[in-house]
Amino acid sequence: MPQLVNSACAICLQRIASDFDAGFCRTCGLPVHSACRTPAAEPIAEGACRECGAAIGSRRAIRERLNAVEDDERRAREQDRLRADAPTEAEVRTRRQDAHADVITGVVAIIGSLLFTVLAFAVNQSMVILATGAIAFGLFRIVRGLKRE
Ligand SMILES: [Zn+2]
Ligand SMILES: [Zn+2]
Repeated sequence: MPQLVNSACAICLQRIASDFDAGFCRTCGLPVHSACRTPAAEPIAEGACRECGAAIGSRRAIRERLNAVEDDERRAREQDRLRADAPTEAEVRTRRQDAHADVITGVVAIIGSLLFTVLAFAVNQSMVILATGAIAFGLFRIVRGLKRE
């Protein structure tokens, strides 16, 4: 017996959510909502099932509708996945703070080493010390911070 829940109602073509309010028609075998069955008093359209009123001739339309439902679900799953992969606001904020900290550390290192150079020169005019290591470190942190921003 095919699965009733999640199949498309042969009449309204909407998904059947539970087997409480739907069933397979005993005449045509198609899944239909109880509420969608054509009442016995109403005339049945030509080419339709005499019991439930489903358009038996349009199985292809039902299949297409089912495929569309599956496509929708696949797209929804895909979107869920993308949303899960995307960084959260907090992660973005943390990353930006890290980047700022990098830039500030770099600027402080460079200013510090330049100050040191100036002070050393002030103390002793014959002494010019350029703290290239600290400046390189500072530049590295600034570049890294700007790249991460
Ligand atoms: Zn229905
Ligand atoms: Zn039927």
